[in-house]
Amino acid sequence: MSELLPNFLAGRWQTGNGPGIPLRDPVLGDELVRVDSGGLDLAAGFAFARERGGAALRALSYRERGALLMAVVKVLQAKRDGYGEISTRNSGTVKGDTAVDVDGAIYTVGVYAKLGAELGDRHALLDGEAERLGHGASFQSQHVLTPTRGVALFINAFNFPAWGLWEKAAPALLSGVPVIVKPATATAWLTQRMVADVVAAGVLPEGALSIVCGSSKGLLDQLQPFDVVSFTGSAQTAVLIRSHAAVTERSVRVNIEADSLNSALLLPGQGEAALDLLAKEVAREMTVKSGQKCTAIRRVFVPESQYAQAAAAISARLQKTTVGDPRNEAVRMGALVNREQKDAVLAGLAELRKEAEVLFDRSAQFLLDADPALSCCVAPTLLGVRTAQASEQAQRIHDVEVFGPVATLLPYRDMPQALALVRRGQGSLVVSLYGSDAPALAAAAAELADSHGRVHVISPDVAAGQTGHGNVMPQSLHGGPGRAGGGEELGGRRGLNFYHRRCAIQASAGVLDALQAHITKP
Ligand code: NAP
Repeated sequence: MSELLPNFLAGRWQTGNGPGIPLRDPVLGDELVRVDSGGLDLAAGFAFARERGGAALRALSYRERGALLMAVVKVLQAKRDGYGEISTRNSGTVKGDTAVDVDGAIYTVGVYAKLGAELGDRHALLDGEAERLGHGASFQSQHVLTPTRGVALFINAFNFPAWGLWEKAAPALLSGVPVIVKPATATAWLTQRMVADVVAAGVLPEGALSIVCGSSKGLLDQLQPFDVVSFTGSAQTAVLIRSHAAVTERSVRVNIEADSLNSALLLPGQGEAALDLLAKEVAREMTVKSGQKCTAIRRVFVPESQYAQAAAAISARLQKTTVGDPRNEAVRMGALVNREQKDAVLAGLAELRKEAEVLFDRSAQFLLDADPALSCCVAPTLLGVRTAQASEQAQRIHDVEVFGPVATLLPYRDMPQALALVRRGQGSLVVSLYGSDAPALAAAAAELADSHGRVHVISPDVAAGQTGHGNVMPQSLHGGPGRAGGGEELGGRRGLNFYHRRCAIQASAGVLDALQAHITKP
């Protein structure tokens, strides 16, 4: 039997009392490790984090907590190679995809460590300037942000076991809020190993970081009014979180990052250069992490006159994507995470094919070192509809998120129709725009800003330096309205808001001066 990974709760390692759920290699099918959360004293674990971890973190300033994050960066960097091995075995990812997760995690913690240094030796944050109340100048209102006195529970998705932990933990810890993470079971091993390394290094105060692997049963029941819960995963599970009594009765603050039908849009009147940039980005988005990215491009909008050219350009790039066992150096795209995801992707593809035809399908070509029957590899597939009218009539294409290497090419008639079609995603994480006319790009960006968390604009002058449609940079907001869950994460300093409580302090100018001195006191 494989190793049963322990959970870290109440400051100690504890194994669950059940048989454990096995985690598997999605290419070879081997059992790797098991996870189990049965029998844990969750109430004691949450109380320990809330009281011990919270008090220790809040006693530090932002600068000191930033220094803790820098120590975490060093631990993770030192252990990086081991993470790559776990990722290859458990997530079936090629080296580049592992880097998106692991290096993305380390980079994000580093950015928040630096923000801590910038915020300096203070224990709370001022929110805006003091404003006069009433007639005289003396009675004023000053908003302040103080760390919430609770725990941050993270319930995470399978696709980013490293980044998914740290993109949330970095702002939480910098804010002075202890973290309890429950990674998705399928890929919990990497998250557990990272927590184990940080715990072993002793760089964080006791209770600051805990992990529960396996079933989520009972976790939400522990939440109290000043706790927060941040969820990343499917829209169905999001409904369960939102309707839990912790949220509906105890007002626990909740952040949801759910599924999203992100778009790429080639503006009208563009030449070959812009079309090539679009094709390159679409092919990359379809294949990085085998399309298992919440930000991946699912719908590609091009003018009707450029449909055939776009189909050929994207297909030519996908043709180069060798699929198979990521341990083979010639492989460019590994596996989906497990059998359930493979079945879900194939079912989703069949659904979309009721409205779209296949423009490119690599599945007839051999998988490298992978058994098609055993492995969870799925080759990239580009779908398409031929007319702008069909783009408009389609329902499923604007509604079904296939969480794999699949995208649909959709022609449009004119810009108003293109914008309306993009909005059929009902709120998305990101849209990317391709063109060379700055005013037209700016106008489209402004039009789509209300329905997206991020608008990524690729013009020729940034072609080489742009950070990628699907890459979540910690300086920018991550999250999207409507269907995408309505959440907000990262965005530099904005990422701290979720972990702070805002209060208006109404007092004399003298008291407010004293308040400022108080919160910046070493
Ligand atoms: P999922 O099935 O909803 O699972 C997400 C997490 O919720 C897992 O940790 C899961 O635990 C847990 N969970 C399941 N049932 C629960 C319950 N009743 N109460 C509390 N927690 C529960 O989603 P997934 O399949 O892992 O992730 C794929 C989806 O996530 C896609 O739709 C994708 O678009 C979305 N996603 C969004 C973002 C974003 O930032 N917007 C990022 C990545 C992924 P178990 O694993 O133990 O079941």
